[in-house]
Amino acid sequence: MSAEIINGKELAQQLRNEMKKEVLALKESSNITPHLTVILVGDNPASKSYVKGKQKASNEVGISSELIQLPENTTEQELLTTIEDLNQNNSVHGILVQLPLPSHISEQKVIETIEPEKDVDGFHPISVGRMMTGKDTFLPCTPFGIVTMLKSKNIQIEGQHVVIIGRSNIVGKPVGQLLLNENATVTYCHSRTKDLTSYTEQADILIVAIGKAHVIQKQHIKEGAVVIDVGINRLEDGSLTGDVDFDSVVERASFLTPVPKGVGPMTIAMLLKNTIKAAKGLKN
Ligand code: NAD
Repeated sequence: MSAEIINGKELAQQLRNEMKKEVLALKESSNITPHLTVILVGDNPASKSYVKGKQKASNEVGISSELIQLPENTTEQELLTTIEDLNQNNSVHGILVQLPLPSHISEQKVIETIEPEKDVDGFHPISVGRMMTGKDTFLPCTPFGIVTMLKSKNIQIEGQHVVIIGRSNIVGKPVGQLLLNENATVTYCHSRTKDLTSYTEQADILIVAIGKAHVIQKQHIKEGAVVIDVGINRLEDGSLTGDVDFDSVVERASFLTPVPKGVGPMTIAMLLKNTIKAAKGLKN
């Protein structure tokens, strides 16, 4: 078997084309242009490049985006005050603080200061609680992107055994919750899991979010499994690769996401979706 590749770059483009129409319609019907404010603290090159990608994609669909760049030595209080001002500003629909933050600033405090109605990253504890209890909310972008990729290929989720490797708050834990909401049976694995292969070989859908190149190989998966590779790892030659050994796994999986052009572009597309949703207002 040779897996069908789920091209996240193409799917994200298709979604942006649809969102462009949605933004125009919103402007015509309600005279509202969705507005996203991104805050970047310091000059981490990877963060700068992520922020640039988010702004470019926003502009493409007609979302107005603003970047607030703060120096590395910004105090926690200064950042919190900036967020509080944006919370009060009715023309700002979505607020995103690019992580990671310098170590003298508490990420948790920052996340909890963003007004939940503007929490387009979906990291606020209220957003997380609403997701867990199946209420309308902003879904965290990477997990939302993964579920959208699965649905785009009509891959069955209900009743399937989903095995997730990685339990971070931004990927592993929430993607498991979203798939549980879709009636999957979910198993979480992590760095302390004993005999990882005994779980991965049972997976109908395997989601890998570890951050180590090529940990998952062909022998770890069952024939016909769907494999979603979330990892982004930089090789010595500067190129990017996933947590999954694409060349061997492609021979045994039924569907596989590549790195790059897989989950990454979908994450940004979901941020745009959340910003449009914020402009329209959350429903209960
Ligand atoms: P993290 O470092 O917070 O979590 C990594 C997880 O992997 C932990 O739960 C840990 O227990 C587990 N782990 C580590 N080594 C393991 C091993 N040998 N076996 C089993 N489990 C192991 O990472 P994260 O923020 O969830 O990100 C994971 C990867 O996904 C990174 O490469 C990151 O760059 C990438 N990422 C990509 C996107 C995207 O949009 N494509 C978004 C977020 C993160």
